[in-house]
Amino acid sequence: MVKDTKFYDVLEVPPTASENELKKAYRKLALKYHPDKNPNEGERFKLISQAYEVLSDPKKKEVYDKYGEEGLKEGGGGGGMHNPMDIFDMFFGGGGGFGRSREPTKVRDTIHQLTVKLEHFYNGTTKKLKVKRHVLCDKCKGIGGNKDSIADCTGCHGHGIQIQRAQIAPGFIQQVQRTCQECKGEGKIIKELCKSCKGKKRVEQEEILEVHIEKGMKDGQKILFKNKGDQEPGLEAGDIVIVLDEMENEKFTRKDDNLILIMELKLVEALCGCTKYIETLDGRQLLFNLLPGEVIKHDDSRVIQGEGMPHLRHPDEKGDLIVHFKVQMPDTIPVKNIDKMSKMLPGKSEPLIPDDAEHFTMTPVSDDHFQRRRRMNYDDDEMGPGQRVQCQTQ
Ligand SMILES: [Zn+2]
Ligand SMILES: [Zn+2]
Repeated sequence: MVKDTKFYDVLEVPPTASENELKKAYRKLALKYHPDKNPNEGERFKLISQAYEVLSDPKKKEVYDKYGEEGLKEGGGGGGMHNPMDIFDMFFGGGGGFGRSREPTKVRDTIHQLTVKLEHFYNGTTKKLKVKRHVLCDKCKGIGGNKDSIADCTGCHGHGIQIQRAQIAPGFIQQVQRTCQECKGEGKIIKELCKSCKGKKRVEQEEILEVHIEKGMKDGQKILFKNKGDQEPGLEAGDIVIVLDEMENEKFTRKDDNLILIMELKLVEALCGCTKYIETLDGRQLLFNLLPGEVIKHDDSRVIQGEGMPHLRHPDEKGDLIVHFKVQMPDTIPVKNIDKMSKMLPGKSEPLIPDDAEHFTMTPVSDDHFQRRRRMNYDDDEMGPGQRVQCQTQ
């Protein structure tokens, strides 16, 4: 039991989520609420980053699970929080040429998530993705207007900054330096604006990207479209990064290159054998027999070799298909058959009953049985003498 579920709630996962599920949740939400896409959700983006920073770090996660957010603040493995953008860049890699202290040389990468069905990872496919990007205006070549009409800004005399003096008290003058509003700090103004981009230097363009999903690619894998991202005057164009997001399949669960399938068996099938088939992700039928007398137990697994996911580098080789059996018991059986069955099934014995044995009748367990028990225990605690300092019954 965790003390506080807030960070889990923020990432929309249960506290039992695996490392992979946490990763996937962060990926999805960070892309959705990234300030580039959702400028009004800055706080939410920050919270998502904070939650992931804690829960992705085993030490911090342990502290958080035990003591909640307070525990982290008290320095129990906490330390200062990182900038949400740094966490984003660390996760997705890059950050598009922005050095820590250097001037940017390249425009920030644009990251898109593309949802891919499991069968498409199995068979490979090409998906078309429509993206919007900012490219340099073709009409003015990214200048923003008529080349001959560019002049030094009169507001700042070409410096890009304005210095304002204000008398804050008699004899005291304060100087404030700020970016020139007239030229937005560029020092130049364009008298004759480009009609195509209205002086913005860039125009928005729609483009269709063909994303090749190769056999064996995985959830979270990135596909790079070099310099296909936004353009800006004087900088190398950014990249478009497509992050693949694997859609849940209703039949198969993927674990690395293996596939897991849950198959329900009737008790009679588990005991007496049967013939079953599985339709693969490329539409083939795999037929197999469970041999009579073999007996499949509940939660038993069997492997069909070489019928898992293709390996990315050698798509002709595949992982394995693991079939996990769930044996369904019949709700009731006809009483008239009991005698026959008792004789056929091994193991039944008649116990020797002690003379002083007490006789009980069992009843079904209700859904809220344990909740009620716990509540009763609490009541005992409160009433009993000398309350327990630490409650460890949870
Ligand atoms: Zn200016
Ligand atoms: Zn233009």
